[in-house]
Amino acid sequence: MPRKNANFQTQADSREPLSRRSKTKFIIVTGGVLSSLGKGLTSAALGSLLKAKGLKVSMQKLDPYLNLDPGTMNPRQHGEVYVTDDGAETDLDLGHYERFLDTPMTRRSSYTAGRIYSQVLAKERRGDYLGGTVQVIPHVTDEVKAAILSMSDDNLDVVLIEVGGTVGDIESLPFLEAVRQLKRDLGRGNCLFIHLSYLPYLETSGEFKSKPTQHSVKELRSIGIQPDIIVCRGKLPSSAETKAKIALFCDVPIDAVFTAVDVKNIYELPIKLFQEGLEKKVSRLLNLGRQEPDISPWQGLVARQAKLTKKVTISMIGKYGELNDSYKSLKEALGHGGLPHDAEVKINYHNAEDVRPDNVAALLKGSKGILVPGGFGLRGVDGMVTAIAYARENMIPFLGICLGLQCAVIEFARNVAGLSKANSEEFKPNCRDNVIFRMVGWYDPNSGLRANRDPSDDLGGSMRLGSYPCRLTPNTKAYAAYDSDLIHERHRHRFEFNPKFLDLLVKKGLVISGQGPADPLENPALPRPKLVEIIELANHPWFLGCQFHPEFKSRPMRPHPLFKAFIEAALGHK
Ligand code: GLN
Repeated sequence: MPRKNANFQTQADSREPLSRRSKTKFIIVTGGVLSSLGKGLTSAALGSLLKAKGLKVSMQKLDPYLNLDPGTMNPRQHGEVYVTDDGAETDLDLGHYERFLDTPMTRRSSYTAGRIYSQVLAKERRGDYLGGTVQVIPHVTDEVKAAILSMSDDNLDVVLIEVGGTVGDIESLPFLEAVRQLKRDLGRGNCLFIHLSYLPYLETSGEFKSKPTQHSVKELRSIGIQPDIIVCRGKLPSSAETKAKIALFCDVPIDAVFTAVDVKNIYELPIKLFQEGLEKKVSRLLNLGRQEPDISPWQGLVARQAKLTKKVTISMIGKYGELNDSYKSLKEALGHGGLPHDAEVKINYHNAEDVRPDNVAALLKGSKGILVPGGFGLRGVDGMVTAIAYARENMIPFLGICLGLQCAVIEFARNVAGLSKANSEEFKPNCRDNVIFRMVGWYDPNSGLRANRDPSDDLGGSMRLGSYPCRLTPNTKAYAAYDSDLIHERHRHRFEFNPKFLDLLVKKGLVISGQGPADPLENPALPRPKLVEIIELANHPWFLGCQFHPEFKSRPMRPHPLFKAFIEAALGHK
């Protein structure tokens, strides 16, 4: 007989105490007052400090929206979709995590409310709840806790959990309730709450205003969460008086109130937070040891960035707008690529829809390098092809990424190989000369040949996602850049170079400098054509297209070889 209230036997009650099962400590970061306060960056910077102490650190993002993952969301609205090695399509904050921690994130590092609910509903359909009434508490909250605790499987010392959204939102309530319970389950000393809030400075009266922080902490406390640390984001370092006021009203010690001042360069953040003493406080509360983090690599990086002597401008022909976060990793990677050459990289953004044969010369004249990034759909493709023709004919260094490679192949087929109707199946489904096509049957969900191993996401499941090996051809620009013959890069696309046109295009001068495995699972029993992963042009100073997204693997301390080589070529362009 099921017990009355059996529903409320939570995971924590039913087994041995969680604190004994896991040695991993959890830091939960919530945000208040406004969105876009830089919760992801602050969390990542704190994570990097803990890693620099010698700890094993990872991170997780909990997003309150109902999409299963951000894969189907428009980058103009939500920013870039960041792809992990294991093929998860995630929030762009994971890019910050990887760049700051230089540790690969996984599918487990990103959960949306939609994914949590879909797991709960799948269990309900399977009868896992034994006829019980399925409720937010405890079923949804248990699923959230299980997702968080799954992070401890990797023998980590610390995991930072960033709860997306702003305290007070209806959507984030189940997540907040779950982390409230988690602290109770894990016990003091194993779990810690940091609340990031906003501290406005009123110029007119010349004072900081702590009221918004007081209100957001009050909101948090009304759902049972008492923050251990409050970090105030503001233009200026707050005064001792303001800190004391916040401490009093929010019921935390004065030395648990910190400010995160606006920085011009995001890589200054670890240094600033270290100087504020945030890592020391966290370490004391979680018993993480007294060793000081080595922040010299960050200091070195920031010092180098501050005195770059050269400048180079790259023209980027994109379709998702310039100001928002749609090309976050790409902008970062271009910046990293300039560092080894002592060069600051500026991006001159052009909307692809504005580029036409009659104005391309005027728009791109004087460009030192031209970049065409990834994208989906026909909009803007003509402008991209036009810009690529200009780069090819005028010997301007060119880097094409994913859709950028596909457009470069189309341009070459049309204008060099004489296939005037060359196209991609994405834009013209039944065209005979589709040099870019979709491999039917390749990603059949039933055959086990899917690139995406999560059977739950249908649209995303039809893409080649995540890390794949690629063999480089000696004596090519790609080989020279990587200085290796086997690389692994991350993919996110449905369409591929059509091998039917390989011989013709190669005969006309296209160089295939990187090829993928015969099939995603490297199963030699399956006769599959090899996938073209990188193309180049023989008679051009530097013209390269890659089917993967190198920007996801670039790190400030380890610039990606292709961006490094591209910027070098751009600097050399007269
Ligand atoms: N739209 C293209 C495809 O699906 C390219 C995708 C991309 O650039 N990420 O293959």
